[in-house]
Amino acid sequence: MSAGGKPPEADAASEPTELDAIDVFWLPGEACDGCSISTLGATDPPIEDLLRGHVPHLPQINLHHHELAVESGTAYVDGMRDAVAGERDPYIVVVEGSVPNERLIDGDGYWVSMGKDEQGDPIRTVDWLDRLAPGAAAVVAIGTCATWGGVPAAQGNVTDAMGTMDYLGRDYRSELGLPVINVPGCAPVGDNFIETVAHLLLHVGGFGPPPELDELGRPTWLFGETVHRNCERGSYYEEGDFAEEYGSEKCLVSKGCWGPTVKCNMPSRRNIEGVGGCMNMGGKCIGCTMPGFPDKFTPFFKKPPGSKVSTVSSSILGGIMSKLRQKSMKNLDTSTRWENPGLTERMYQWQLKRGSNYDPDRGLERRPGGKTGDD
Ligand code: SF4
Ligand code: SF4
Repeated sequence: MSAGGKPPEADAASEPTELDAIDVFWLPGEACDGCSISTLGATDPPIEDLLRGHVPHLPQINLHHHELAVESGTAYVDGMRDAVAGERDPYIVVVEGSVPNERLIDGDGYWVSMGKDEQGDPIRTVDWLDRLAPGAAAVVAIGTCATWGGVPAAQGNVTDAMGTMDYLGRDYRSELGLPVINVPGCAPVGDNFIETVAHLLLHVGGFGPPPELDELGRPTWLFGETVHRNCERGSYYEEGDFAEEYGSEKCLVSKGCWGPTVKCNMPSRRNIEGVGGCMNMGGKCIGCTMPGFPDKFTPFFKKPPGSKVSTVSSSILGGIMSKLRQKSMKNLDTSTRWENPGLTERMYQWQLKRGSNYDPDRGLERRPGGKTGDD
């Protein structure tokens, strides 16, 4: 971790342990379930392989997911009760969706709950988070709602929604000394999440170091660079060649793309198994992985501040550069042999003209770029 206070003991892997299986408790907050769908589409490795324990050195995961579970009612929450009682160590908590501020309506209902207590009262999701987070090997927030608050936390929301890190505190540390691990995106790239979990499982089993995180708990190898840096439209930007309408293959900054200032690996990883992705499919970046999303990026079809300066300067500089490149390209598209035949080439042509296969009607036209028989 480059910042954020990772304790020294979390730097190194501990001794490998024979960990056959591990419980993963999936806590739903205020969400659309898009993150669950992304996870189901992941391939690196597929969730099915983790569920069956088919990935070498990774323990099989016992996933407790509210929509995928066979159990329901009390039987479903029993696993979480056992974990709170310390009978499921080690375990991982995954949060999907933003965390509502239940204090706002304390004693007057609840925003989100899962299961019921002995009195038959709903158990709020924040109560599960309070009970499970302290003993968890790690807490992973999937998607922008769970990481930073996302759409449910947009200005004017009535639940005072927030991200998991804001709820638990930036100084929260799991049993393994890790802060909340944040994998943002609306919806996130499923492989970003599953790869982070796989990395984490290796660490839990003592086979590797902890995932490297930035100061906001994001995996650095996934969120260390801007969208723009890997965008396949980058060369158009550089040459000041901008899209005038959607459907164009050119740079979309003219349409309000935020890619130059947004941390996300979508252009290189794409959506599922190397297919799809925002700019790859014709859409612009609206900054969905960022803590400022959505408020700082709306209205989505308004151009970002500074985009006028950037497009004008890019157009001028890029236009000059493009012209110079055209000239250079023309030059590189010509063999030196064609430009300066030299003595050897001239002799070769002279011999060709006199060779038995010399065609007096076609001269040397059959040779690409060669001199004609009239020379
Ligand atoms: S489309 Fe967006 S991310 Fe891609 S080159 Fe243009 S500004 Fe950068
Ligand atoms: S490229 Fe932009 S809009 Fe697309 S997933 Fe990444 S941050 Fe979100």
